[in-house]
Amino acid sequence: MKGMVGRRDASVEGYMPDQGLREPLNFGGIVGQEIALAILKASLASGRIAHAYMFRGPSGSGKATAARVFARYLLCSRVAEGKSQEPCGYCPSCVRFAYGTHPDFFDMGEDRRTIKIEESHRIIEDSMKKPFLAPRKVFLLRDVENMTREASNALLKALEEPPSSTCFILTSSNPAAVPDTVISRCQAVPFRPIPVKALVHIILSIRDVAPDVALEAARFANGSVEKALLILDARHECGSPTLLEGALAESPVVGAERYSHMDPESQRQFLDSLGVELEKRLELSLESQNEEGAKDRSFRFYRECLLSVMKAKRRLERNVSPYLTFAGLLFELRQLSAKEKRSE
Ligand SMILES: [Zn+2]
Repeated sequence: MKGMVGRRDASVEGYMPDQGLREPLNFGGIVGQEIALAILKASLASGRIAHAYMFRGPSGSGKATAARVFARYLLCSRVAEGKSQEPCGYCPSCVRFAYGTHPDFFDMGEDRRTIKIEESHRIIEDSMKKPFLAPRKVFLLRDVENMTREASNALLKALEEPPSSTCFILTSSNPAAVPDTVISRCQAVPFRPIPVKALVHIILSIRDVAPDVALEAARFANGSVEKALLILDARHECGSPTLLEGALAESPVVGAERYSHMDPESQRQFLDSLGVELEKRLELSLESQNEEGAKDRSFRFYRECLLSVMKAKRRLERNVSPYLTFAGLLFELRQLSAKEKRSE
């Protein structure tokens, strides 16, 4: 994971060995989510911690990161005793959290895994027990829209009458797919797409890249850290400032050779990132259509490119040879670009 280690924050506490990323140690490290932070800070200040919170908002907006940071506050003994405003970083609870071995913290549903019924039963059973070390037990249930129906029904029971020493933090990027009965038992904490400036700040804190590269990725990421990192990785792969120009710059045969040797996950990520970049360009070209003198490539060009990318994604899903898929895509993009130039 070379190149993924940040340079700004070298403290050990924030290091997540599983992801190679650094996470903030307190609310000070979370940017671009003022409303969510105001709600959480008010909860802590009043001492009235809800039994359940629903962190809702677009994917990549930092819900799970904020949930883990909030958990630090809920678990820190010194915060509970009123001796510290921030997670202290050295009480047994903070130390165990930093090493990922806290007995009262449960982080479920990482890697977009679906929470199943058996797990749901275990969560309910665990939630009834007294905490070992911290003032309370904290359950982080990520992407609850992915829970099976029976799992969320079981979870409802736990949400109905949780012991006072248990706090559930649920996250969802698609709350419409979560049963109303679950939503209604949670205090809502809204997250919004991260503004470009804040996104640049976040990228620079976790990746060693030049500020203008971070800005470029942030502009095309639609407020998502996840997407910004995908774009950075894909750009690093193709060595060009933008994915589209990179794809147009090399011969389809050479490009197809290179992309077809990547692992399937990287191939998919490249197409996803190119798709995100094109969507953003579409948006920008729509905005600039009304401005006088704006000379961006046409809306139609980007739309046709996007259709080609979607076609390539479907082909990979149907196990068409990656070489043929990428050769076809790069050739099409070239043709579209040539057609676009002719019509100028
Ligand atoms: Zn502490």
